[in-house]
Amino acid sequence: MVTSVTRRGDNFNSSFNYAERMGELSRKLQDYETRLNLGTSAKLAVVGFSESPSALLNKNIVNIPSWFLFKYEDIPARFRVADINDPRLTNTGFLNEVAHWMNEKIGEAGLSGICRPADRGRLQAFLKLLRDPEFYEKSKEFTLGHELAHLSHAQTEQQAYLMQGVQQTVSIGGVIAGLYILFLSVSLLPVVNIAVSVGVAALAIVITIGGILVWLNRTEIPPSPSSIEEEKRADLDAVAMLGDARGGIYSFSNEISHNLAVRRGNPIGTTNIDDRGNNLRDTKHPSLTDRVAYLRQWQSQHYQRA
Ligand SMILES: [Zn+2]
Repeated sequence: MVTSVTRRGDNFNSSFNYAERMGELSRKLQDYETRLNLGTSAKLAVVGFSESPSALLNKNIVNIPSWFLFKYEDIPARFRVADINDPRLTNTGFLNEVAHWMNEKIGEAGLSGICRPADRGRLQAFLKLLRDPEFYEKSKEFTLGHELAHLSHAQTEQQAYLMQGVQQTVSIGGVIAGLYILFLSVSLLPVVNIAVSVGVAALAIVITIGGILVWLNRTEIPPSPSSIEEEKRADLDAVAMLGDARGGIYSFSNEISHNLAVRRGNPIGTTNIDDRGNNLRDTKHPSLTDRVAYLRQWQSQHYQRA
């Protein structure tokens, strides 16, 4: 006789529901889009476990790695790590077990971004990030805000180009129309009263000057910022939109301590990580220590302790 039915995964006490998690993230994205005044709304796409979150500017897509879908409560208690120095974080058996569980969930959701043995470093960093449930969520909110800020900057730049195109057409049209009417006023001279001709000439001059003025007041397109400047702008716009920099600070500090742990554990092959935990291979973003520093400064300027 069957007394109970055990579904796959029940023994792990997981509430992971892909559709629910995607729905929550999409609603957050929509809310942030409104706050950032985004003209065209973005779509979420789930990418590989180890990939960095990113924004596809011409397609209005925000890419999130598959681990991003998991909330703290989705992860079985026996896989949660409260201490950044927990010895299980360097235990291959433990990491394989967590990866196995996550891959089962990722597979059930029909996604391909599973955690492969080569992704163990990213898995460690994820488990460390998860140690504080509140800040883990805040760090993901910061990331979504950061990627949307990139999209917002790209859309503003596109609008400036469009506006400049319209103004150029208007101003050239004005100058041509003005010159044509001026020509007309001269050719009218033998047939009509001189006053009419002078009036038409005056109109021509007004239209020409109007065209020139539109050109002089055309929208200036600011020079594109360097990649590092743009990343810093996206960081700061994200925290201004959220009204909180702590998610970003937590995320980058976590990355730094993870990098330092990797450096300590691998003293020979540490050329990619400096002694402050910065990733030297990343030349597109400000250094992690710089990002923590300016976000801390933002936080202290906006929330001074009484
Ligand atoms: Zn970025």
